[in-house]
Amino acid sequence: MLSQWLDEAALEREDEAPALNEDIRADVCIVGGGYCGLWTALALKQREPSLDIAIVEKKRCGDGASGRNGGFVLSWWRSFGALRKFCSTEDALRLAAASADCVNEMASFCATHAIDCDFRQDGWLWAATNQAQDGAWRSVIEALDRHQVRPFEEWSRGQVAARSGSDRHLSGVFEASAATVQPARLARGLRRAALQSGIQIFENTPMRRFKRTRPPSIVTPHGSVTADKVVIAMNAWATALPELRRSILVISSDVVATERFPERLKSSGWADGMAISDSRTLVNYYRTTRDGRVVFGAGGGFLSYGNRVGSKFDGATPRAAEVAGYFHQTYPAFGDVAIAAHWSGPIDRSLSGLPFFGRLGGRNDILYGLGFSGNGVGPTMLGAKILASLVLEARDQWSECGLVRDSAGLFPREPMRYFGGAMVLNAKRRMETLDDQGRKPGPWTRTIAGLAPAGLTKVKG
Ligand SMILES: Cc1cc2nc3c(=O)[nH]c(=O)nc-3n(C[C@H](O)[C@H](O)[C@H](O)COP(=O)(O)OP(=O)(O)OC[C@H]3O[C@@H](n4cnc5c(N)ncnc54)[C@H](O)[C@@H]3O)c2cc1C
Repeated sequence: MLSQWLDEAALEREDEAPALNEDIRADVCIVGGGYCGLWTALALKQREPSLDIAIVEKKRCGDGASGRNGGFVLSWWRSFGALRKFCSTEDALRLAAASADCVNEMASFCATHAIDCDFRQDGWLWAATNQAQDGAWRSVIEALDRHQVRPFEEWSRGQVAARSGSDRHLSGVFEASAATVQPARLARGLRRAALQSGIQIFENTPMRRFKRTRPPSIVTPHGSVTADKVVIAMNAWATALPELRRSILVISSDVVATERFPERLKSSGWADGMAISDSRTLVNYYRTTRDGRVVFGAGGGFLSYGNRVGSKFDGATPRAAEVAGYFHQTYPAFGDVAIAAHWSGPIDRSLSGLPFFGRLGGRNDILYGLGFSGNGVGPTMLGAKILASLVLEARDQWSECGLVRDSAGLFPREPMRYFGGAMVLNAKRRMETLDDQGRKPGPWTRTIAGLAPAGLTKVKG
């Protein structure tokens, strides 16, 4: 039985990298061995091969969100509106185009490094599963159209139902450049590529203390890394740092994986690797696997008091029945298909729904990149280019783009963050259930649900 993707990625499981057992020096120390940390190390090594880079990872590379996500590799075209809030139109167009290029770049990186992560570039369907969701994409398409950019194809109702394998999809647009991957195999493959290029990786080595000395030092249980530059690539765990605690909201995303049923999937019409999202705020996202399962996820799960990433975010999800319910509601014909595994993971939701990059406390020697907000599989590759430029103090299109900003906006303090956040989430959930039933929410539900952070609707479409 499939458990988390990471277990399946045992294929890629070489001997674990050693833990750090001494005090060492490095040019660059990266904290966090997920996609963001690994891509950043690889980007730096490519640009400056002589750099001595160390990654410090608390468990195994890929144990965080990178090894357990839905595997959608999406561009930022659908986030064009959000990008324009921080960037000039030209910059927003350039970043969105660069994010789409990253999908192709990832394909060739995987081919060059023999990373077998089931990369399938079969596109992404941004769909509506009720009338209230219909046309959620309209403003993005119109804005892009004004610049003669047309990444989305509009599909007829019949086409949407036929290609998605369910007539619960009422309308939608298709972006051909998107892909899916087996996420943990990608993470383990990047780890292997990093090791091969001479990057040092220390696994089972949590940062216990971060000394903001000059140069800064990362203290681990049995050693330390003192480095000219430190990069914080810790995703939701970055809330352990007081400077970043209020810039993100830790919220779960929860996934179920079905048993194998390849023949029925094929005859339903959903025969390829096309990824699908509906247009809920608390988005449902789903894809097939190469061996004929459906992996179905639901965003906007649970919060944690104090914004901490507790054990609830690891392993089996408490939302399994709810997420399986969404699957069966979207695919009634698969109502008898059993769920073989389910799990949860933390999302580092920023206020805008876009990542942000910067210098901690304004220091050039401590950089961070986070806030991927549930869309990091492709964008971490782009984020790595930004972080590499910040580390190298290059003044270029990456370090000067609008996503490098002093403040990403702050979520409220506790207890307002937790209790207020839970109230908004519940209102959103209620509103979306009523939308499914074709009923109108009352003014109270609408008002409270309307307090959700801007851009949330565009997280996955
Ligand atoms: C269930 C789920 C589904 C998702 N689906 C999608 C999707 O389909 N498409 C998409 O684009 N995105 C998706 N995402 C988001 C995506 O997975 C993330 O944006 C991306 O993996 C972020 O990479 P990262 O390197 O920043 O974080 P992570 O992979 O979480 O890496 C951070 C690392 O830091 C390590 N760490 C934490 N604290 C310490 C410490 N003190 N010392 C040392 N190391 C530490 C962690 O162990 C972890 O390995 C999903 C996320 C989840 C949880």
